[in-house]
Amino acid sequence: MTADVLVVGGGPAGRAVAAECGRRGLVTTLLDPAPDAPWCVTYGAWAAELPATLPESTVAARARGRAIARTTHTLGRDYAVLDVAALRAHLDAELDAAGVVVRTGRAVTSSGTGGVELADGTRVDAAVVVDAGGHRQPLGGPGARGVAAGQTAYGVIVDESAATALVAPGEALFMDWRADHGEPGWPTFLYGIPLGGGAMLLEETSLARRPGLPMRVLRRRLHARLHHHGITVPPDAGTEKVHFRVDSPRHRTSGVLGFGAAAPLVHPASGFSLAAALTLAPAVAGAIATRWPSGPAAALAAAQAVVWSPQAMAVHRLRRIGLEALLRMPPPEVVDFFEVFFALPDRHQWAYLGDRDDLAGTAATMAALFTRSDWRLRYRLVGPALRRPAPPVDREAAPIG
Ligand SMILES: Cc1cc2nc3c(=O)[nH]c(=O)nc-3n(C[C@H](O)[C@H](O)[C@H](O)COP(=O)(O)OP(=O)(O)OC[C@H]3O[C@@H](n4cnc5c(N)ncnc54)[C@H](O)[C@@H]3O)c2cc1C
Repeated sequence: MTADVLVVGGGPAGRAVAAECGRRGLVTTLLDPAPDAPWCVTYGAWAAELPATLPESTVAARARGRAIARTTHTLGRDYAVLDVAALRAHLDAELDAAGVVVRTGRAVTSSGTGGVELADGTRVDAAVVVDAGGHRQPLGGPGARGVAAGQTAYGVIVDESAATALVAPGEALFMDWRADHGEPGWPTFLYGIPLGGGAMLLEETSLARRPGLPMRVLRRRLHARLHHHGITVPPDAGTEKVHFRVDSPRHRTSGVLGFGAAAPLVHPASGFSLAAALTLAPAVAGAIATRWPSGPAAALAAAQAVVWSPQAMAVHRLRRIGLEALLRMPPPEVVDFFEVFFALPDRHQWAYLGDRDDLAGTAATMAALFTRSDWRLRYRLVGPALRRPAPPVDREAAPIG
């Protein structure tokens, strides 16, 4: 089987970029071990970061963001929670309309420019290969050594009316760092977002830990926190478990473009990558199509340049330093850090949380954070730039329960 473009991975990033390639007349195949399996995750994003072309029907709820560190902060942006089934239906319709061939299979290796080998021993030939296989980067080579840093969360779905003690109607609780779960140790926060139709997801979240904080700790803390606020979780409440890597290395396999979480487009301070992937997909496909007449290598290089502009690479490095700073911070100082962060002017907060190309904005935010921090926090912020990545948490020294 031969294609112009082979996209490995049928998550949101893979489906979006495959549809955009097909739309531009490129013969495109999408490969996934279970291409028809439904998505069982809750996707959210800052509303302003979703592409304007995304139909409103794919958004289940919009809400004003709020965050609590030492004090409460109203965030200057709305949060959008996606209707995951509608998003999937939309992307599938785009794939269909663009004539993308969807194939069932698991890619195991890439032979660089030219295609991939599948687990069943067959091969798909393609001029350009895109690895959109998620944070595990199936075509990413050996990757970084050592223990991965992961975001983990455990959530329950309750009636909106039962959750008002924590999340008011029309609001999304981006982070509530109060230790109402009653446990010392690794800091976790509550994330609370409306799902539409009167449902609310309440999720105890560990932003990042090396390795990820175990699910049983998060589950225990969530129930303790909700009990503290008088919220009863019905026995048949829906649940969500989140675990993904936030420090995947940059995808560097020769002849392959890493896209979506595989790139990685994951923002280490939020774990988000969905909006970035949906927004970048048309530009990536456009670059491939425009440079196609110059050959596959030129087309791939053009797509790489869209995903990893010099500014995006520099911002990525700075955000990774920020992640390492958080991984090394003693628990009470994490809350102090977010208190300083959420008190920054809006432009600084959004430069850091949003646009992955805004180098000047990211640097200005870091400078503002530094200026407004005390000396103890300044040392925590600057130190990681000069040190190796934080070692895995010593379970004896930092009990996790
Ligand atoms: C429960 C949960 C909630 C989340 N919530 C959010 C959120 O609110 N906002 C946000 O931005 N992010 C969220 N994330 C992070 C999320 O993983 C990513 O944003 C998003 O799913 C990444 O999309 P993707 O298409 O890059 O990768 P994925 O969604 O991981 O898709 C990868 C696809 O590749 C396929 N694949 C894997 N290996 C192979 C192989 N060898 N060959 C072929 N195909 C392969 C998989 O089957 C899968 O379909 C959440 C993650 C979880 C787990």
